[in-house]
Amino acid sequence: MTNNVYDQLVNDFMAKIIAKNAGETEFHQAVREVVETLVPFIEENPQYKEAKILERIAEPERVILFRVPWVDDKGEIQINKGYRIEMNSAIGPYKGGLRFHPTVNLGILKFLAYEQVYKNSLTTLPMGGGKGGSDFDPKGKSDNEVMKFCQSFMTELCKHIGPNTDVPAGDIGVGGREIGFLFGQYKRIRNEFTGVLTGKGREWGGSRIRPEATGYGATYFAAEMLKTRGDSLEGKVVAISGSGNVAQYACEKVTELGGKVVTLSDSSGFIYDPEGISKEKLAYIMHLKNVKRGRIKEYAEKYRCEYHEGIRPWGVKCDVAMPNATQNEINEDEAKMLVANGCFCISEGANMPSTPEAVEVYQKAKILYGPGKAANAGGVAVSGLEMSQNSLRLSWTREEVDGRLQNIMKDIHGTCVKYGTVDDKYIDYVKGANIGGFVKIADAMLAQGIV
Ligand code: NDP
Repeated sequence: MTNNVYDQLVNDFMAKIIAKNAGETEFHQAVREVVETLVPFIEENPQYKEAKILERIAEPERVILFRVPWVDDKGEIQINKGYRIEMNSAIGPYKGGLRFHPTVNLGILKFLAYEQVYKNSLTTLPMGGGKGGSDFDPKGKSDNEVMKFCQSFMTELCKHIGPNTDVPAGDIGVGGREIGFLFGQYKRIRNEFTGVLTGKGREWGGSRIRPEATGYGATYFAAEMLKTRGDSLEGKVVAISGSGNVAQYACEKVTELGGKVVTLSDSSGFIYDPEGISKEKLAYIMHLKNVKRGRIKEYAEKYRCEYHEGIRPWGVKCDVAMPNATQNEINEDEAKMLVANGCFCISEGANMPSTPEAVEVYQKAKILYGPGKAANAGGVAVSGLEMSQNSLRLSWTREEVDGRLQNIMKDIHGTCVKYGTVDDKYIDYVKGANIGGFVKIADAMLAQGIV
């Protein structure tokens, strides 16, 4: 078949997706990216085509949408929307994070749940895909207000989740504090102490390395990609966006592996510290962001470096870039700037942080590009390990969990190489991750009949 025929098949498929899911632009974007790489593979494997596996994967098994009423510190009633998308359970219970952010809507959560299905399959662990959250904004709220909200959210959600059904975790706006409040309310209502959430505190069922896992994993993935070119992170200048969970631990691991992190950001702007963000400086950021809940600008004031308001860090000269904040945070122009400045490796800690046009720039320039569903799978992988430890009622050591995480990231990289190496030996990690993730789910769906 020619490329024109494939393009037509993709366009026909997408026309139906867009008609059925009107206005959900991020969801369309995520599906298109997968379908573009899968259509030729599916044409060569007609069993998947006949069973309409691609069409079925793009339709959630279940969408739960609910009201979350709560009372703020002034005694005023607030109402938010709550969601859980149970996307696919072919290979295990639904698994995926909760996002609390004012931009949350159905389309964003469906894109995240769709990505999660492939990502979880790539980890080699038995986890289906899901995602959830709320348009609640934890920023500027007191601990008491966050607790009230979490309790109301879980009062409804607890009817739909369980350790063998659906196991949520954190994402943007949901860290250790929120998981604690959510877990407490689940336990209170259901009267069971069980592994229903991951990212729990270490004293009450949490896994070692879970907070670190996404950032560490994305760094290990970058190291694996560099290895294919006989290179390493040693001496590399690294630009990171975000300053939350993923960004903090990516910064820690890059530094540990000999790289120099020169940027971090939040939704207000970015800091540029050409001397590098050392261990001590990172400790300051962790306190600033996790305890004081302040702005990244304060780092620039403390360490007297540059702060750029309202701009993302992609104009800075670097060898490696790790977008670790949010979706669509690198556009075509920013991708061109990165490549022009010598960046040759992108490892995505965030989900879908590069627009389709940016991805095209990377691939045309033949730089190393690890898409989120492969590069950031370390977080959910260690969540899977937390589920195993909860079932066993055991707690593994830091070394044991980190060793498993490293092996999983190597396996994911190997899968990408297996399915993504193209004619001129360039590794198309997008293709590799999509096909590698797809096969396992598709075969399970075939075996389980039309459900
Ligand atoms: P956090 O809430 O801990 O941190 C998010 C960071 O990104 C903050 O610095 C935040 O700045 C910034 N950010 C959020 N939204 C925007 C926006 N619209 N524009 C600019 N900056 C923004 O979240 P995580 O670190 O957990 O998540 C970051 C990314 O990683 C997300 O894409 C998430 O889906 C992905 N991810 C997370 C996993 C995990 O285990 N936590 C697992 C896999 C992927 P500000 O404080 O100003 O809002």
